[in-house]
Amino acid sequence: MITTTQVGIIGAGPAGLVLAHMLAARGIESLVLEVRDRSYVEHRVRAGVLEHPSVELLRDLGLAGRLDREGLAHRGIELAFEGRRHRLDFLELTGRSITVYGQQEIVKDLIAIRLAAGDPIVFEAAEVEPCAFDTPHPTIRYRHDGQDHELRCDLIAGCDGFHGVSRPAMPGWTSFEREYPFAWLGILADAAPTIDELIYTNHERGFALYSMRSPKITRMYLQVAADEAIENWSDDRIWSEFDIRLPTGDGFSFNSGPILEKAITPMRSFVASPMRSGRLVLAGDAAHIVPPTGAKGMNLAIADVFVLAGIIDRAYRTGRWEGLDRYTDTCLGRVWRAQHFSYWMTSMLHRLSDDPFQYQLQLSELALVTGNVSAARSLAENYVGLPFAPVP
Ligand SMILES: Cc1cc2nc3c(=O)[nH]c(=O)nc-3n(C[C@H](O)[C@H](O)[C@H](O)COP(=O)(O)OP(=O)(O)OC[C@H]3O[C@@H](n4cnc5c(N)ncnc54)[C@H](O)[C@@H]3O)c2cc1C
Repeated sequence: MITTTQVGIIGAGPAGLVLAHMLAARGIESLVLEVRDRSYVEHRVRAGVLEHPSVELLRDLGLAGRLDREGLAHRGIELAFEGRRHRLDFLELTGRSITVYGQQEIVKDLIAIRLAAGDPIVFEAAEVEPCAFDTPHPTIRYRHDGQDHELRCDLIAGCDGFHGVSRPAMPGWTSFEREYPFAWLGILADAAPTIDELIYTNHERGFALYSMRSPKITRMYLQVAADEAIENWSDDRIWSEFDIRLPTGDGFSFNSGPILEKAITPMRSFVASPMRSGRLVLAGDAAHIVPPTGAKGMNLAIADVFVLAGIIDRAYRTGRWEGLDRYTDTCLGRVWRAQHFSYWMTSMLHRLSDDPFQYQLQLSELALVTGNVSAARSLAENYVGLPFAPVP
C-alpha cells in the first residue's frame, strides 16, 4: 500500500514525538512509524530530568499540562563526597531550574495528545527501511498488519535511537566514541523519597545517585562493572550497597521498598557526524549518546528536533531545502558541549581506578565546584540547559 505525507518520522521516542508535534504546530503533516507497541514505549523507564529549555518548549507547544501538574520542580542538586553533602542552588546561580518527570510520562502525554488530534502513529511497524533519500522524493518501506507499505515523503527523520535502522542506512558518517569500564544499575522502587533533590555521591566503592520520579517513587543508581550481570544483584544486595554508599555524616537516610524494576545500562559517549545524508536526517540517540551522569540524553534529542523543525518549516515556506546543509554543524555545537559536560561529571563522580592520585584530583574538583561560585555557576548553567541553538 502506498501512502504520502510531508515528513516521515522513524521512532516514537522523545525526538520523534516532539518533532511530530512541532511540525503539526506549523501545519506540516507527518507520519510516525514505531517498531514497538504503544504500551511498550509508554512504560519504558529511562531518563527523568528535563532541562529548563526543554520544559519551555513543551509549554510553548501546549504539551505541558500534566508535566506542570505532576512534574517535580527542582531548584538544585546535591554533591556528596567524603561523607558530606554540598548543595548547589541552580535557581540562585542561574535564575533557572530543572523539572523531574519520567521520560515515559512525556512519551505517554505526547502520544495521547497526537492521537486525540487525529494525527497518525503506526505502532508495530516492522522491517522499516529508509529508501531513496539521495533524491528529493525519499520513501520509507515497512510492513504492518501483514502488508507491505511504502510511505512517500519529502524528508525522513531518523529518530529511532541508538539501535535503529536510520544511522546504519546512512553512507559516509564517522563516529567519535568512548566506552567506560563501568555501567549503571538503575532501580525504580516503591519508596517515598526522603529529600526533594538529586544526590550525586562519589564513594570509594563507586558512584551512587539518589533520585526520584514522583512523591512516592524513588529512582536510584549504582556504579557497577561494565560486564556486571543483573542476576548477581538481588534486591537485598542492592539495598545493602545503597546503605553503604548513600548515608552521609549529617544524618541523611532514605526509604527502601519493593523494587519495581531494575536494569543495567552501559555508559557510552558517541557522536556520529554528519547527522544527515540527502533527505535522511538523524536526531537524538540515533546520532549521539552521552553517559547519563549529566542528564542530557533526552534533552539533546529535544534540542536536535527544535533545530530540525525550524529548518523544515523554512523549507516549506521558501521552497528551498539548503538549511539542511547547516543542520549537522548547528546541532553538533550543542551536542559536543553536552558531551564534554557529561564526560566531566562522569569522571568527577565515578570510581575510575584504584589510583589514589586520581581520587585526590576528584576531591579537588568537587571542592572547587561546591566552594567556588564561578565553578558552581558553570556546572549549574550546563545542568539546567544552555539555550537551544538558533535555527540556521
Ligand atoms: C536503556 C536506556 C536507559 C536510559 N536511562 C537514562 C537515564 O536513566 N537517565 C538519562 O538521563 N538518560 C537515560 N537514557 C538516555 C535517554 O533515555 C535517551 O537519550 C532518550 O531516550 C533519547 O530519545 P530518542 O527519541 O532520541 O531515542 P529513543 O527514546 O531511543 O527512541 C527511539 C524510538 O525509535 C524506536 N525504534 C527503534 N528502531 C526502530 C525501527 N527500526 N523502526 C521504527 N522505530 C524504531 C524505538 O522503539 C524508540 O521508541 C537511557 C537510554 C537507554 C537506551
